[in-house]
Amino acid sequence: MGAATSIGIVGGGQLAWMLAEAARRRGVELHVQTPGAQDPAVALASSVVHAEVRDVQATRELASRCSAISFENEWVDLEGLKALAADGVPFVPDLEALRPLVCKRSQRELLQRLNLPSPAWFPLAQVHEPPPQQQADPDAAAESTSTPPAPSGPALPQGFAYPLMAKAASGGYDGKGTEVLRSDTDLEQLLAQVDAEGWIVEEFVSFELELAVVAARDSLGEVVCLPVVQTHQHQQVCDWVLAPYQAPHALQQAVRNIAASLLTSLNYVGVLSIELFYGPRGLLINELAPRTHNSGHYSIETCDLSQFDLQLLCVAGQTVAEPELVAAGALMVNLLGFEERVADDPDSSYASQREALAGLADAHLHWYGKAGSSLGRKLGHVTLLLHQDDPVARRAEAMQRLEQVRQIWPLPPGPDPAQPS
Ligand code: ADP
Repeated sequence: MGAATSIGIVGGGQLAWMLAEAARRRGVELHVQTPGAQDPAVALASSVVHAEVRDVQATRELASRCSAISFENEWVDLEGLKALAADGVPFVPDLEALRPLVCKRSQRELLQRLNLPSPAWFPLAQVHEPPPQQQADPDAAAESTSTPPAPSGPALPQGFAYPLMAKAASGGYDGKGTEVLRSDTDLEQLLAQVDAEGWIVEEFVSFELELAVVAARDSLGEVVCLPVVQTHQHQQVCDWVLAPYQAPHALQQAVRNIAASLLTSLNYVGVLSIELFYGPRGLLINELAPRTHNSGHYSIETCDLSQFDLQLLCVAGQTVAEPELVAAGALMVNLLGFEERVADDPDSSYASQREALAGLADAHLHWYGKAGSSLGRKLGHVTLLLHQDDPVARRAEAMQRLEQVRQIWPLPPGPDPAQPS
Protein backbone atom coordinates (compact mmCIF):
# COMPACT_ATOMS: atom_id res chain seq x y z
CA MET A 1 0.00 0.00 0.00
CA GLY A 2 1.42 3.43 -0.79
CA ALA A 3 0.85 6.87 -2.19
CA ALA A 4 -0.73 5.43 -5.34
CA THR A 5 -3.65 4.23 -3.21
CA SER A 6 -6.37 6.80 -2.74
CA ILE A 7 -9.52 5.95 -0.88
CA GLY A 8 -12.76 7.89 -0.55
CA ILE A 9 -14.90 7.76 2.56
CA VAL A 10 -18.47 8.96 2.76
CA GLY A 11 -18.70 10.61 6.18
CA GLY A 12 -16.32 12.77 8.21
CA GLY A 13 -16.93 11.98 11.89
CA GLN A 14 -14.61 10.33 14.40
CA LEU A 15 -14.47 7.00 12.55
CA ALA A 16 -13.30 8.73 9.36
CA TRP A 17 -10.86 10.77 11.46
CA MET A 18 -9.26 7.63 12.94
CA LEU A 19 -9.24 6.05 9.47
CA ALA A 20 -7.45 9.16 8.19
CA GLU A 21 -4.82 8.76 10.93
CA ALA A 22 -4.24 5.14 9.89
CA ALA A 23 -4.12 6.22 6.22
CA ARG A 24 -1.43 8.77 7.03
CA ARG A 25 0.66 6.16 8.79
CA ARG A 26 0.38 3.92 5.72
CA GLY A 27 0.95 6.64 3.13
CA VAL A 28 -2.56 6.31 1.72
CA GLU A 29 -4.54 9.32 0.49
CA LEU A 30 -7.94 9.58 2.16
CA HIS A 31 -10.59 11.88 0.67
CA VAL A 32 -13.81 12.49 2.60
CA GLN A 33 -17.36 13.62 1.88
CA THR A 34 -18.84 15.43 4.86
CA PRO A 35 -21.02 18.53 5.32
CA GLY A 36 -19.36 20.44 8.18
CA ALA A 37 -16.09 22.37 7.93
CA GLN A 38 -15.49 21.46 11.61
CA ASP A 39 -16.20 17.73 11.22
CA PRO A 40 -13.45 15.65 12.85
CA ALA A 41 -11.95 14.10 9.67
CA VAL A 42 -11.69 17.39 7.75
CA ALA A 43 -8.36 18.41 9.27
CA LEU A 44 -6.63 15.14 8.34
CA ALA A 45 -8.19 14.38 4.95
CA SER A 46 -6.21 14.71 1.71
CA SER A 47 -9.24 16.54 0.29
CA VAL A 48 -12.85 17.16 1.29
CA VAL A 49 -16.08 17.18 -0.71
CA HIS A 50 -18.26 19.41 1.46
CA ALA A 51 -21.70 17.83 1.13
CA GLU A 52 -24.26 15.78 3.03
CA VAL A 53 -23.44 12.06 3.09
CA ARG A 54 -26.61 11.22 1.14
CA ASP A 55 -25.69 13.63 -1.68
CA VAL A 56 -25.05 11.20 -4.53
CA GLN A 57 -23.64 13.83 -6.93
CA ALA A 58 -21.06 14.69 -4.27
CA THR A 59 -20.15 10.99 -4.01
CA ARG A 60 -19.59 11.01 -7.79
CA GLU A 61 -17.16 13.89 -7.29
CA LEU A 62 -15.47 11.97 -4.45
CA ALA A 63 -15.16 8.93 -6.74
CA SER A 64 -13.33 11.00 -9.35
CA ARG A 65 -10.55 11.51 -6.78
CA CYS A 66 -10.17 7.88 -5.57
CA SER A 67 -9.69 4.29 -6.63
CA ALA A 68 -12.38 2.93 -4.26
CA ILE A 69 -15.05 4.24 -1.90
CA SER A 70 -16.14 3.07 1.52
CA PHE A 71 -18.57 4.39 4.12
CA GLU A 72 -18.28 5.75 7.63
CA ASN A 73 -21.77 4.64 8.56
CA GLU A 74 -24.81 2.87 7.16
CA TRP A 75 -27.01 5.92 6.54
CA VAL A 76 -26.37 5.86 2.82
CA ASP A 77 -28.68 6.25 -0.16
CA LEU A 78 -28.25 2.78 -1.66
CA GLU A 79 -30.78 3.40 -4.43
CA GLY A 80 -29.13 6.66 -5.45
CA LEU A 81 -25.65 5.12 -5.42
CA LYS A 82 -26.68 2.31 -7.78
CA ALA A 83 -26.15 4.63 -10.78
CA LEU A 84 -22.55 5.23 -9.68
CA ALA A 85 -21.94 1.51 -9.21
CA ALA A 86 -23.37 0.90 -12.71
CA ASP A 87 -20.82 3.42 -14.04
CA GLY A 88 -18.05 1.37 -12.47
CA VAL A 89 -17.42 3.17 -9.16
CA PRO A 90 -15.99 0.47 -6.85
CA PHE A 91 -17.74 0.49 -3.47
CA VAL A 92 -16.21 -1.60 -0.69
CA PRO A 93 -18.32 -3.22 0.67
CA ASP A 94 -20.41 -3.73 -2.41
CA LEU A 95 -23.85 -2.05 -2.33
CA GLU A 96 -25.67 -5.40 -2.53
CA ALA A 97 -23.70 -6.75 0.44
CA LEU A 98 -24.65 -3.62 2.38
CA ARG A 99 -28.36 -3.80 1.54
CA PRO A 100 -29.51 -6.17 4.34
CA LEU A 101 -27.32 -4.37 6.89
CA VAL A 102 -28.52 -0.78 6.59
CA CYS A 103 -31.70 -1.32 8.58
CA LYS A 104 -32.43 -3.21 11.81
CA ARG A 105 -35.44 -4.99 10.32
CA SER A 106 -33.53 -6.38 7.33
CA GLN A 107 -30.71 -7.36 9.71
CA ARG A 108 -33.17 -9.40 11.77
CA GLU A 109 -34.53 -11.02 8.59
CA LEU A 110 -30.99 -11.84 7.44
CA LEU A 111 -30.11 -13.43 10.79
CA GLN A 112 -33.29 -15.51 10.67
CA ARG A 113 -32.52 -16.60 7.11
CA LEU A 114 -29.01 -17.67 8.11
CA ASN A 115 -30.33 -19.32 11.26
CA LEU A 116 -27.99 -17.25 13.43
CA PRO A 117 -29.01 -16.71 17.07
CA SER A 118 -30.78 -13.40 17.70
CA PRO A 119 -33.62 -12.08 19.91
CA ALA A 120 -37.20 -12.95 18.94
CA TRP A 121 -38.83 -9.97 17.21
CA PHE A 122 -41.84 -8.80 15.28
CA PRO A 123 -42.65 -5.76 13.12
CA LEU A 124 -44.41 -3.13 15.26
CA ALA A 125 -47.24 -2.86 12.70
CA GLN A 126 -48.15 -6.48 13.50
CA VAL A 127 -49.84 -5.41 16.75
CA HIS A 128 -52.74 -4.11 14.62
CA GLU A 129 -53.29 -7.47 12.94
CA PRO A 130 -55.97 -9.73 14.40
CA PRO A 131 -54.61 -12.84 16.11
CA PRO A 132 -54.33 -15.70 13.57
CA GLN A 133 -57.11 -17.86 15.14
CA GLN A 134 -59.70 -15.10 14.47
CA GLN A 135 -58.95 -15.30 10.76
CA ALA A 136 -58.76 -19.08 10.58
CA ASP A 137 -61.71 -20.12 12.76
CA PRO A 138 -64.91 -20.18 10.60
CA ASP A 139 -67.16 -20.57 13.72
CA ALA A 140 -65.66 -17.48 15.22
CA ALA A 141 -66.20 -15.69 11.91
CA ALA A 142 -69.85 -16.85 11.82
CA GLU A 143 -70.38 -15.72 15.40
CA SER A 144 -68.87 -12.39 14.63
CA THR A 145 -71.64 -11.69 12.07
CA SER A 146 -74.25 -12.03 14.80
CA THR A 147 -72.29 -10.46 17.70
CA PRO A 148 -69.78 -7.84 16.54
CA PRO A 149 -66.50 -8.22 18.47
CA ALA A 150 -65.76 -5.63 21.09
CA PRO A 151 -63.27 -3.10 19.64
CA SER A 152 -59.86 -4.15 20.88
CA GLY A 153 -56.60 -2.24 21.11
CA PRO A 154 -53.25 -3.34 19.76
CA ALA A 155 -52.27 -6.84 20.84
CA LEU A 156 -48.88 -8.49 21.21
CA PRO A 157 -48.23 -11.45 18.93
CA GLN A 158 -48.35 -14.82 20.61
CA GLY A 159 -45.30 -15.70 22.70
CA PHE A 160 -44.34 -12.09 23.48
CA ALA A 161 -44.72 -10.39 26.88
CA TYR A 162 -43.50 -7.17 28.50
CA PRO A 163 -40.90 -5.83 28.92
CA LEU A 164 -40.03 -5.45 25.25
CA MET A 165 -37.52 -3.34 23.36
CA ALA A 166 -38.89 -1.27 20.46
CA LYS A 167 -36.38 0.00 17.90
CA ALA A 168 -36.54 2.32 14.91
CA ALA A 169 -35.52 0.19 11.94
CA SER A 170 -33.21 2.88 10.65
CA GLY A 171 -31.57 6.11 11.77
CA GLY A 172 -31.12 5.12 15.44
CA TYR A 173 -27.77 5.21 17.22
CA ASP A 174 -26.48 5.28 20.79
CA GLY A 175 -29.91 4.35 22.12
CA LYS A 176 -31.67 7.12 20.16
CA GLY A 177 -34.51 5.33 18.42
CA THR A 178 -34.98 2.65 21.09
CA GLU A 179 -37.83 2.50 23.63
CA VAL A 180 -38.39 0.03 26.45
CA LEU A 181 -42.07 -1.01 26.50
CA ARG A 182 -43.31 -2.11 29.90
CA SER A 183 -47.07 -2.16 29.35
CA ASP A 184 -49.93 -1.78 26.86
CA THR A 185 -49.91 1.93 27.74
CA ASP A 186 -46.28 2.26 26.61
CA LEU A 187 -47.14 0.38 23.43
CA GLU A 188 -50.12 2.62 22.69
CA GLN A 189 -48.05 5.73 23.38
CA LEU A 190 -45.36 4.58 20.97
CA LEU A 191 -47.94 3.79 18.30
CA ALA A 192 -49.33 7.31 18.67
CA GLN A 193 -45.89 8.84 18.20
CA VAL A 194 -44.21 6.88 15.41
CA ASP A 195 -44.92 5.33 12.03
CA ALA A 196 -45.30 1.66 13.03
CA GLU A 197 -44.03 0.56 9.61
CA GLY A 198 -40.57 1.88 10.49
CA TRP A 199 -40.20 0.08 13.84
CA ILE A 200 -39.53 -3.41 15.13
CA VAL A 201 -40.09 -4.85 18.61
CA GLU A 202 -37.78 -7.36 20.30
CA GLU A 203 -37.95 -9.47 23.41
CA PHE A 204 -36.06 -7.78 26.26
CA VAL A 205 -33.01 -9.98 26.67
CA SER A 206 -31.72 -10.58 30.19
CA PHE A 207 -28.07 -10.92 29.32
CA GLU A 208 -25.11 -11.20 31.66
CA LEU A 209 -22.65 -9.40 29.43
CA GLU A 210 -22.45 -7.62 26.14
CA LEU A 211 -19.67 -8.74 23.82
CA ALA A 212 -18.50 -7.43 20.46
CA VAL A 213 -16.18 -8.41 17.68
CA VAL A 214 -14.81 -6.60 14.65
CA ALA A 215 -14.28 -8.89 11.66
CA ALA A 216 -12.95 -8.26 8.19
CA ARG A 217 -13.05 -10.14 4.91
CA ASP A 218 -10.72 -9.40 2.02
CA SER A 219 -11.42 -9.77 -1.70
CA LEU A 220 -9.91 -13.28 -1.67
CA GLY A 221 -12.48 -14.33 0.93
CA GLU A 222 -10.13 -14.53 3.91
CA VAL A 223 -11.96 -13.71 7.17
CA VAL A 224 -10.08 -12.39 10.21
CA CYS A 225 -11.31 -11.19 13.60
CA LEU A 226 -10.03 -8.83 16.25
CA PRO A 227 -10.14 -10.35 19.76
CA VAL A 228 -13.63 -10.59 21.30
CA VAL A 229 -14.25 -7.76 23.76
CA GLN A 230 -16.71 -6.98 26.54
CA THR A 231 -18.66 -3.76 26.09
CA HIS A 232 -20.46 -1.89 28.85
CA GLN A 233 -23.23 0.62 28.13
CA HIS A 234 -24.49 3.58 30.15
CA GLN A 235 -27.96 4.76 29.14
CA GLN A 236 -27.61 2.58 26.04
CA VAL A 237 -24.40 4.31 24.94
CA CYS A 238 -21.11 2.42 25.00
CA ASP A 239 -19.29 3.50 28.17
CA TRP A 240 -16.25 1.24 28.25
CA VAL A 241 -14.72 -1.74 26.44
CA LEU A 242 -12.47 -4.37 28.00
CA ALA A 243 -10.14 -6.16 25.58
CA PRO A 244 -9.74 -9.04 25.27
CA TYR A 245 -12.75 -10.74 26.87
CA GLN A 246 -11.24 -14.00 28.06
CA ALA A 247 -13.92 -16.20 26.55
CA PRO A 248 -13.76 -20.00 26.69
CA HIS A 249 -12.43 -21.48 23.45
CA ALA A 250 -15.86 -22.70 22.33
CA LEU A 251 -17.31 -19.22 22.71
CA GLN A 252 -14.46 -17.66 20.70
CA GLN A 253 -15.12 -20.23 18.00
CA ALA A 254 -18.86 -19.55 18.00
CA VAL A 255 -18.24 -15.82 17.54
CA ARG A 256 -15.82 -16.52 14.69
CA ASN A 257 -18.29 -18.84 13.02
CA ILE A 258 -20.99 -16.17 13.23
CA ALA A 259 -18.63 -13.62 11.65
CA ALA A 260 -17.50 -15.97 8.90
CA SER A 261 -21.07 -17.07 8.08
CA LEU A 262 -22.28 -13.50 7.81
CA LEU A 263 -19.38 -12.14 5.78
CA THR A 264 -19.17 -15.10 3.44
CA SER A 265 -22.89 -15.44 2.80
CA LEU A 266 -23.08 -11.74 1.90
CA ASN A 267 -19.89 -11.94 -0.19
CA TYR A 268 -18.94 -8.92 1.89
CA VAL A 269 -15.54 -7.28 1.54
CA GLY A 270 -14.54 -4.91 4.33
CA VAL A 271 -14.95 -4.51 8.07
CA LEU A 272 -18.12 -5.67 9.83
CA SER A 273 -18.80 -5.26 13.54
CA ILE A 274 -21.04 -7.55 15.54
CA GLU A 275 -22.61 -6.73 18.92
CA LEU A 276 -23.72 -9.69 20.99
CA PHE A 277 -25.60 -10.48 24.16
CA TYR A 278 -24.17 -13.32 26.25
CA GLY A 279 -26.15 -15.00 29.00
CA PRO A 280 -28.09 -18.10 30.00
CA ARG A 281 -29.17 -18.67 26.40
CA GLY A 282 -25.63 -18.42 25.06
CA LEU A 283 -24.92 -15.85 22.36
CA LEU A 284 -27.58 -13.72 20.71
CA ILE A 285 -26.68 -11.20 18.01
CA ASN A 286 -27.91 -7.72 18.91
CA GLU A 287 -26.70 -5.62 16.05
CA LEU A 288 -24.50 -5.60 12.98
CA ALA A 289 -22.59 -2.53 11.81
CA PRO A 290 -21.13 -2.64 8.29
CA ARG A 291 -18.08 -0.60 9.30
CA THR A 292 -15.51 0.05 11.98
CA HIS A 293 -17.00 0.38 15.45
CA ASN A 294 -16.53 1.97 18.85
CA SER A 295 -15.89 -1.49 20.31
CA GLY A 296 -12.76 -1.77 18.12
CA HIS A 297 -11.06 1.54 18.98
CA TYR A 298 -8.79 -0.19 21.49
CA SER A 299 -7.12 -1.98 18.55
CA ILE A 300 -5.28 1.22 17.51
CA GLU A 301 -2.74 0.75 20.32
CA THR A 302 -3.39 -2.82 21.38
CA CYS A 303 -3.13 -4.81 18.12
CA ASP A 304 -0.55 -5.01 15.36
CA LEU A 305 -3.37 -4.31 12.87
CA SER A 306 -6.14 -1.98 14.00
CA GLN A 307 -9.72 -2.06 12.73
CA PHE A 308 -8.81 1.00 10.64
CA ASP A 309 -5.80 -0.80 9.10
CA LEU A 310 -8.13 -3.68 8.24
CA GLN A 311 -10.58 -1.31 6.54
CA LEU A 312 -7.80 0.35 4.53
CA LEU A 313 -6.40 -3.02 3.43
CA CYS A 314 -9.82 -4.31 2.35
CA VAL A 315 -10.79 -1.13 0.50
CA ALA A 316 -7.41 -1.04 -1.24
CA GLY A 317 -7.95 -4.60 -2.46
CA GLN A 318 -5.15 -6.04 -0.32
CA THR A 319 -5.14 -9.19 1.76
CA VAL A 320 -5.71 -9.14 5.50
CA ALA A 321 -3.88 -11.06 8.24
CA GLU A 322 -5.15 -12.07 11.67
CA PRO A 323 -4.54 -9.14 14.06
CA GLU A 324 -2.45 -10.01 17.12
CA LEU A 325 -2.47 -8.32 20.52
CA VAL A 326 0.72 -6.38 21.26
CA ALA A 327 -0.22 -5.80 24.94
CA ALA A 328 -1.88 -7.97 27.58
CA GLY A 329 -5.07 -6.01 27.01
CA ALA A 330 -6.69 -2.60 27.17
CA LEU A 331 -9.54 -0.68 28.68
CA MET A 332 -11.12 1.85 26.33
CA VAL A 333 -13.31 4.46 28.02
CA ASN A 334 -15.59 6.72 26.00
CA LEU A 335 -15.59 10.37 27.01
CA LEU A 336 -19.32 11.05 26.94
CA GLY A 337 -20.55 14.62 27.28
CA PHE A 338 -21.58 15.04 30.95
CA GLU A 339 -23.01 18.54 30.55
CA GLU A 340 -24.27 20.87 27.85
CA ARG A 341 -21.65 23.25 26.52
CA VAL A 342 -22.11 25.36 23.38
CA ALA A 343 -19.40 25.43 20.74
CA ASP A 344 -18.10 28.93 21.50
CA ASP A 345 -17.81 28.26 25.25
CA PRO A 346 -14.02 28.30 25.87
CA ASP A 347 -14.55 25.43 28.35
CA SER A 348 -16.08 23.21 25.66
CA SER A 349 -12.61 21.92 24.78
CA TYR A 350 -12.22 20.44 28.30
CA ALA A 351 -8.52 21.35 28.28
CA SER A 352 -7.80 20.53 31.93
CA GLN A 353 -9.60 17.16 31.83
CA ARG A 354 -7.80 16.24 28.62
CA GLU A 355 -4.44 17.09 30.11
CA ALA A 356 -5.17 15.00 33.18
CA LEU A 357 -6.35 12.01 31.11
CA ALA A 358 -3.34 12.19 28.79
CA GLY A 359 -1.10 12.23 31.88
CA LEU A 360 -2.36 8.88 33.20
CA ALA A 361 0.13 6.01 32.86
CA ASP A 362 -0.10 4.12 29.55
CA ALA A 363 -3.02 6.28 28.44
CA HIS A 364 -3.72 7.19 24.83
CA LEU A 365 -6.20 10.02 24.49
CA HIS A 366 -8.22 10.53 21.31
CA TRP A 367 -10.14 13.82 21.31
CA TYR A 368 -12.50 14.17 18.36
CA GLY A 369 -12.55 17.98 18.32
CA LYS A 370 -16.34 18.22 17.99
CA ALA A 371 -17.95 21.63 18.30
CA GLY A 372 -19.86 21.77 21.61
CA SER A 373 -20.94 19.13 24.05
CA SER A 374 -24.28 17.58 24.93
CA LEU A 375 -25.25 14.87 27.40
CA GLY A 376 -24.02 11.45 26.27
CA ARG A 377 -22.34 12.76 23.09
CA LYS A 378 -19.11 10.91 22.27
CA LEU A 379 -16.45 13.62 22.51
CA GLY A 380 -13.41 11.36 22.59
CA HIS A 381 -12.03 8.19 24.12
CA VAL A 382 -9.04 7.11 26.15
CA THR A 383 -7.34 3.74 25.81
CA LEU A 384 -5.39 2.47 28.83
CA LEU A 385 -3.03 -0.41 28.20
CA LEU A 386 -3.27 -3.26 30.71
CA HIS A 387 -0.38 -5.39 31.93
CA GLN A 388 -1.83 -8.34 33.82
CA ASP A 389 -1.71 -11.61 31.89
CA ASP A 390 -4.13 -13.40 34.16
CA PRO A 391 -7.72 -12.57 33.07
CA VAL A 392 -9.06 -12.12 36.62
CA ALA A 393 -6.17 -9.85 37.61
CA ARG A 394 -6.54 -7.98 34.30
CA ARG A 395 -10.22 -7.28 34.94
CA ALA A 396 -9.36 -5.94 38.41
CA GLU A 397 -6.62 -3.79 36.85
CA ALA A 398 -9.15 -2.49 34.30
CA MET A 399 -11.67 -1.55 36.99
CA GLN A 400 -8.96 0.35 38.90
CA ARG A 401 -8.04 2.22 35.74
CA LEU A 402 -11.74 2.97 35.11
CA GLU A 403 -11.93 4.54 38.57
CA GLN A 404 -8.97 6.80 37.71
CA VAL A 405 -10.74 7.98 34.56
CA ARG A 406 -13.99 8.57 36.48
CA GLN A 407 -12.16 10.91 38.89
CA ILE A 408 -11.35 13.10 35.90
CA TRP A 409 -14.26 12.47 33.59
CA PRO A 410 -17.64 11.66 35.23
CA LEU A 411 -20.48 9.78 33.57
CA PRO A 412 -23.42 11.80 32.23
CA PRO A 413 -26.15 12.06 34.91
CA GLY A 414 -29.41 10.13 34.86
CA PRO A 415 -30.82 6.65 35.35
CA ASP A 416 -30.30 3.87 32.86
CA PRO A 417 -33.56 3.65 30.85
CA ALA A 418 -32.53 0.29 29.33
CA GLN A 419 -33.16 -1.49 32.62
CA PRO A 420 -36.78 -2.56 33.07
CA SER A 421 -38.09 -1.55 36.49
P1 ADP B 1 -28.22 1.55 18.99
O1 ADP B 1 -28.27 1.23 17.53
O2 ADP B 1 -28.94 2.80 19.35
O3 ADP B 1 -26.84 1.43 19.57
P2 ADP B 1 -28.78 -1.04 20.12
O4 ADP B 1 -29.74 -1.95 19.45
O5 ADP B 1 -27.34 -1.39 19.97
O6 ADP B 1 -29.11 0.44 19.67
O7 ADP B 1 -29.13 -0.95 21.65
C1 ADP B 1 -28.37 -0.16 22.55
C2 ADP B 1 -28.25 -0.91 23.87
O8 ADP B 1 -29.56 -1.15 24.40
C3 ADP B 1 -27.62 -2.28 23.78
O9 ADP B 1 -26.22 -2.20 23.81
C4 ADP B 1 -28.20 -2.96 25.02
O10 ADP B 1 -27.52 -2.55 26.19
C5 ADP B 1 -29.61 -2.43 25.05
N1 ADP B 1 -30.51 -3.33 24.28
C6 ADP B 1 -30.73 -3.30 22.94
N2 ADP B 1 -31.59 -4.27 22.56
C7 ADP B 1 -31.95 -4.92 23.69
C8 ADP B 1 -32.81 -6.03 23.96
N3 ADP B 1 -33.52 -6.63 23.00
N4 ADP B 1 -32.91 -6.45 25.24
C9 ADP B 1 -32.22 -5.82 26.23
N5 ADP B 1 -31.41 -4.78 26.04
C10 ADP B 1 -31.25 -4.32 24.79
